[in-house]
Amino acid sequence: MNISELLKNKLESNQTVLTEFESKNLLKEIGIPIPEQELAITKEKTIAVAKKIGFPVVLKLMAEDVVHKSDTGAVKLNINNEVEIANAYDELMKIPSQSEKSISIQKMADEPITELIIGMTTDAQFGPALMFGIGGILVELLEDISFRIAPITEYDAREQIHEIKGFPILDGYRGKPKADIDAIVNTLLKISDLVIKHEEINEMDLNPVFIYENGLICVDARIILKKPGASL
Ligand code: ADP
Ligand code: MG
Repeated sequence: MNISELLKNKLESNQTVLTEFESKNLLKEIGIPIPEQELAITKEKTIAVAKKIGFPVVLKLMAEDVVHKSDTGAVKLNINNEVEIANAYDELMKIPSQSEKSISIQKMADEPITELIIGMTTDAQFGPALMFGIGGILVELLEDISFRIAPITEYDAREQIHEIKGFPILDGYRGKPKADIDAIVNTLLKISDLVIKHEEINEMDLNPVFIYENGLICVDARIILKKPGASL
């Protein structure tokens, strides 16, 4: 995949929002792990892909006007057999949408130590800023999130991770294993590098990233481009 080419094509067709599927493929391209994923439209293909990927799988409805997927029932987790896939497929196809629908079949990722939110937002004054936080109420309610202006160094990334109040959750809280901090550092550095190289990216939201004792995996992502001609 040529990232510049992909972003240029999107903008030329007046699209500024990459789908979850496209966003995660781009992340994979820069070396951020994602679950194996494939798109299908028919039920037969959905079942065939799931068997190829191997159970358990997750099915998600991909449609331009379905943004917060779980709010509308567009995410079906932990599907273990053909009957469950067929049922999940039927339910997903019933979700109201004006856009073209497809189904993303993806490998179900193992239970993490915790979910992380990693992202990028464009500040009017300072340009691209990287965000880091622990998913769920810590970010949503308590706004326990840290920012750094890109480009960042490894030192910045480590500091950014350590400064959130929820850091103990990553450091062996209540007998849980310690999270792989190096994997988070590498992910922040890769995103920093990406957004510096590609100024057309306006916003990135990796939500959630599953963090483990060894490694991490991004299970949902959204990349938004700048509208052509828009100033910062
Ligand atoms: P939403 O659009 O609502 O943010 P997500 O794609 O983030 O939808 O899915 C909702 C939740 O389902 C995630 O926060 C995560 O906990 C879980 N999830 C999504 N994809 C996977 C996956 N491939 N493996 C395991 N859990 C997943
Ligand atoms: Mg999500």
